[in-house]
Amino acid sequence: MAVLVTGGAGYIGSHMVWELLDSGEDVIVLDRLSTGFEWAVAPEAKLVIGDIADASLVKSLFRDHEIDAVMHFAGSIVVPESVAMPLAYYENNTCKTRALLETIIEGNIRHVIFSSTAAVYGNQGEAPIAEDASTNPESPYGRSKLMTEWMLRDASAAHGFTYTTLRYFNVSGSDPRGRTGQSTEGATHLIKVACETATGKRPAMTVFGTDYPTPDGTCIRDYIHVSDLAAVHRLALARLRRGGSNLTANCGYGRGYSVFEVIDSVKKMAGRDFDVQLCTRRAGDASAVVANSDLAYREFDWQPKYADLDRIVADALAWEEILARGNRQKFDRAEL
Ligand code: UDP
Repeated sequence: MAVLVTGGAGYIGSHMVWELLDSGEDVIVLDRLSTGFEWAVAPEAKLVIGDIADASLVKSLFRDHEIDAVMHFAGSIVVPESVAMPLAYYENNTCKTRALLETIIEGNIRHVIFSSTAAVYGNQGEAPIAEDASTNPESPYGRSKLMTEWMLRDASAAHGFTYTTLRYFNVSGSDPRGRTGQSTEGATHLIKVACETATGKRPAMTVFGTDYPTPDGTCIRDYIHVSDLAAVHRLALARLRRGGSNLTANCGYGRGYSVFEVIDSVKKMAGRDFDVQLCTRRAGDASAVVANSDLAYREFDWQPKYADLDRIVADALAWEEILARGNRQKFDRAEL
């Protein structure tokens, strides 16, 4: 059987492709390369450049390959951009997934794994958030993902495929073997920004808000290593293939770190000090967002390998060095 990975040229998707190949799966990647990179796709995967809403293209993939599952990563993910361009987010994330689902149903695909986000919860206070918390997204991004969760639920009930929705907390780090990593230009995520500063790509970085009701005044987040996240997807697919029922599960470690703790870890692991400017709060930031991931541990028998902030940072830094040297994986697909 083969797995179709949409968005497999992007940050998390490209790690997923390696995870699947490492476990012996055949992988087809569908990506229109709007933010992903052709070189980020493992050469052993088949890359098809195109749109998830292109029904005839997706149908041809289902016809030509023995695909039993779709892992759906393709989508737009920048919260402030979603505030500025809400309709683009509803189009990319919600409408295009609706179109993809229609083709999935027509193609009689058995399983779907969907990339959702902790942003569906909105601001919930300090305690770890479990899946049964109310959903109250604060951005068009979060709403576009929540609407997709609802579509999946309804379409599954009507048409019989099974799905797992995974709500990601703060995904960070890079492939421990240096095969892929977070490569987006102008990325805004804390560990990426701090690692770019530590490796000299940025002259300085900014801390957004030091007056939060947390022990050191900065925001707390649950940072999960991208390769552990990819492993959750693999386990979730195995569970569905064994006949497991629909599930929505958080993906975090259940432990939070402050912005200052992250910056300290980056300085320590890089062995370098760098300038940090303290600034006012960034609009829309909740003071603490930490997962209750009991469900993922239990249902998937998930045993994270990299649940350590220094380890996440070390891998993120290693990838920055690879990018800076320009010797990321290079290959010529025509030769494959
Ligand atoms: N953050 C920061 N400086 C940066 C980027 C992020 O202080 O350059 C803070 C941000 O305000 C938040 C935390 O780091 O409190 C995590 O932000 P990120 O964008 O990584 O994830 P999000 O909060 O959107 O889940």
